Amino acid sequence: MHELFIDGEWKEASDGNHRRINCPADGALVAEVSEATPDDATAAVRAARRAFDTGLWALTPATDRAMLLSQVADRLQQEKETVARLEALDTGRIIAETRIDVDDVTAVFRYYSTLAAADAGRIVDTGMPDVVSKVVYEPIGVCSLITPWNYPLLQTSWKVAPALAAGNSFVLKPSELTPSTAIWLLATLEELGLPAGVGNLILGAGGRVGPPLTESPEVDLVSFTGGLVTGRSIAASAAPTVKKVALELGGKNPNVVFADADFEAAVDGAMNAVFYTSGEVCSAGTRLIIEESIHDEFVAELVKRTEAIKIGGPFDENAETGPLISAAHRDKVEKYVDAGIAEGAKLLVGGRRPEGEKYANGYYYLPTILDGCSTEMSCVQDESFGPVITVETFSGHTRDEAESEALRIANDTVYGLAGAVWSQDGGRGERVAARLRHGTIWINDFGPYVPGAEWGGFKQSGVGRELGQQGLDEYRETKHIWRNTRPAPTHWFGAENEGGQL
Ligand code: NDP
Repeated sequence: MHELFIDGEWKEASDGNHRRINCPADGALVAEVSEATPDDATAAVRAARRAFDTGLWALTPATDRAMLLSQVADRLQQEKETVARLEALDTGRIIAETRIDVDDVTAVFRYYSTLAAADAGRIVDTGMPDVVSKVVYEPIGVCSLITPWNYPLLQTSWKVAPALAAGNSFVLKPSELTPSTAIWLLATLEELGLPAGVGNLILGAGGRVGPPLTESPEVDLVSFTGGLVTGRSIAASAAPTVKKVALELGGKNPNVVFADADFEAAVDGAMNAVFYTSGEVCSAGTRLIIEESIHDEFVAELVKRTEAIKIGGPFDENAETGPLISAAHRDKVEKYVDAGIAEGAKLLVGGRRPEGEKYANGYYYLPTILDGCSTEMSCVQDESFGPVITVETFSGHTRDEAESEALRIANDTVYGLAGAVWSQDGGRGERVAARLRHGTIWINDFGPYVPGAEWGGFKQSGVGRELGQQGLDEYRETKHIWRNTRPAPTHWFGAENEGGQL
């Protein structure tokens, strides 16, 4: 039984409730965890507040904070197989993917370890010889960190690493479906000597334990990654106390392929963009927007390769991708595909659950392609978060017309998280990238990121940035300190001479 971590102690939920975590691949019991109450969440916020106010971590030298982050990175590598396994069991994803995640999480902790001690602020020239003016950065305070079920530890690392680097205290609330790697992380931080109360873990249903984490006046920042609807309600609940809110929300990401693209690379990229992690990726390139002249050949090749995708559980060595996270989520993906077909999309492949004994107890759904789509359709506008490609086409009599049409379609979404353009014309790649209204753009690629480059959305894909320097700045306040080294009265008030100030 895994418990909540509050004020440096592992505790049962105050009402003794717990939850069973089952593997989405076969329903096997993975873990049993405490299910927090709102009172537990409030206790965690208070512990984080106390820890912050006593300066336990905030006043720890930045080099020591950096050292702890670096030790977490070392542990991740030492225990890579254990962590990858935990993640694979909770999410059902194949272990080959979750091993990559552990390396990515390691890189995030290493990156913020180097950044933690790198920037102590700056001196500003006042033009006055007796005045020292400096701008310094301080931790923002108590942070509520709320994370989703896809890439659970990776999403957590994007928040916990910069929050700790900057000197904050935090309460982490992972998705109720995937708590295991968050438990591992908090246990590791405890072992490495993070002071009590600086890091707290609340497990449980977001709708129940979320409000104390977002509404409390004792919380200074809420950093949330999840769906748009939840993001809106979190922003609303944080508003009365005017706390800082960072939101990483969904995406409906265009993958624009021009006729002059490298055909082989673009087909391969279009598949990776969506079918990796069964499409449960906020930046998945679900909208294939392809130049009409290559549509038939490109889509035929895509269908052929999609039919051959091997799916299976986390430890199935032949599997290239796994199940969806839950029965409820698979229902959602099924409804989404059905709605697309009802609106006129043509189902080319997939569109159903796989048959066979090995899939019977898991939440599998076949990689799916819907052709003949357009921006009015719900399947093009709504996030599926599943292995589904929608195909739209564009054309133009001139080069400029084709680019404008592709951009019009690609930008016709309320989201703005990520997108890609494929073309062997370097100038075209740059031009289209410059006009795509999305936070990350790949030219002739889809998906990679580095911890040093900011990640986040335009439009309704979010507010703020994670990763990079801005990912640290989210967790810091900026303070200006003015010091007069030769104080002397100004005599503005009560001066004997006319005009006041001498
Ligand atoms: P949800 O929005 O349902 O949940 C995200 C987290 O918020 C979970 O921990 C959830 O808890 C919690 N939560 C739910 N309701 C509340 C509430 N009222 N107050 C506080 N917390 C709450 O998203 P999913 O977990 O379904 O994740 C999928 C979504 O995440 C997709 O839309 C995806 O696009 C987005 N995402 C965005 C990323 C980005 O970088 N922009 C990256 C990854 C995912 P519980 O699980 O218990 O309900």
